Amino acid sequence: MKSDLHAALKKYFGFGEFKGLQEQVIKSILDQNNTFVIMPTGGGKSLCYQLPALMQEGTAIVVSPLIALMKNQVDAIRGVSNENGIAHVLNSSLNKTEVKQVKADITKGVTKLLYVAPESLTKDEYVEFLRSVKISFMAVDEAHCISEWGHDFRPEYRNLRNIIKRIGDNIPIIGLTATATPKVQEDILKNLGMTDANTFKASFNRPNLYYEIRPKTKNVDSDIIRFIKQHEGKSGIVYCLSRKRVEELAQVLQVNGIKAVPYHAGLDAKKRASHQDMFLMEDIDVVVATIAFGMGIDKPDVRFVIHHDIPKSIESYYQETGRAGRDGGEGHCLAYYSYKDIEKLEKFMSGKPVAEQEIGHALLQEVVAFAETSMSRRKFILHYFGEEFDNETGEGGDMDDNMRHPKEKEEAKDNVAI
Ligand code: ADP
Ligand code: MG
Repeated sequence: MKSDLHAALKKYFGFGEFKGLQEQVIKSILDQNNTFVIMPTGGGKSLCYQLPALMQEGTAIVVSPLIALMKNQVDAIRGVSNENGIAHVLNSSLNKTEVKQVKADITKGVTKLLYVAPESLTKDEYVEFLRSVKISFMAVDEAHCISEWGHDFRPEYRNLRNIIKRIGDNIPIIGLTATATPKVQEDILKNLGMTDANTFKASFNRPNLYYEIRPKTKNVDSDIIRFIKQHEGKSGIVYCLSRKRVEELAQVLQVNGIKAVPYHAGLDAKKRASHQDMFLMEDIDVVVATIAFGMGIDKPDVRFVIHHDIPKSIESYYQETGRAGRDGGEGHCLAYYSYKDIEKLEKFMSGKPVAEQEIGHALLQEVVAFAETSMSRRKFILHYFGEEFDNETGEGGDMDDNMRHPKEKEEAKDNVAI
């Protein structure tokens, strides 16, 4: 027999089954526990707080760093109800009348989800108001923003614990992130004051991705061209560090008959949108991009991700390669590595505060270890994320260069410029 939870899932979202750990997470939240959720991107974290919010009395406050993302979620939630006030955003873009409406809906008990940017929560007026109404729980999405060890540190997140306390003493806190490193997790639990939280961590293994590192030589461009031609007609992304390199490489690919376009933050919004659409519509095969490309892009059949330049952390590498093979089909992740690039990345950091440099250096050393290792790359990545992996029994255990071609790798290593 299906539970009430399943009925609510069906009613509000139209889904027949929970994904992964969602059901356990939601039970923990409904039991008023502090709860910590670690799931890869696309794992279905939003539903973990949306469903219990819709099922409970009072308003759940959702802290999220991205205004655009909040708006999307609010629109989606409103779509499942005929009550417009069921979800609201509270931020600096609202005028007085709008703020009044939001407050009225919350007071009436209509609003189940209130999305706020962390900086809005520093306003005394809002905090005082939220103190006076019924709050079901507080969800902190993208909770890694609290940690300097994460890839997106936001100082405003550091204040959240105090603000939550001011709003109410016994409000359960739900932290959610796709960052799996133990250091970041520790920071989150400590900073949110919830070391007692029930923790739910999904596996980060992506068994259909094949990981390969090649030494970066001066022939890297022709090597990339050859690789892409071996995957003709397939969609792929090539990541470069600089805009300049993106432009150059996109041109080199075009000249060689590959349907490729550049993408970086230096292009105007119209061009970026059109290049992204061309990729999604398959008018072109390859996007050559800086890391500006990919956030929120959901093309399920990306067949390869190439790193022309090695990323600055294992975390970034995982996120970027993670855009391949979302549909479960083939996903070839090829990265070029030379120690010179590591030195370049170190140099970029030299203007930054010392603490930041130290963190950046430590993260880079892990990248070096990963690139130079002769062990299973999947095991390495998962170990970095605090996960045990057994190549004999684990899914995708042989899906990397070191496991498939241990001998060739030894020879190739001699060519790496150290
Ligand atoms: P995350 O925040 O973990 O990256 P999202 O919350 O954005 O992931 O969800 C990713 C996708 O999964 C969304 O399209 C969402 O509608 C879908 N999804 C979530 N839960 C379920 C479910 N139980 N059944 C089917 N699809 C789901
Ligand atoms: Mg999310």
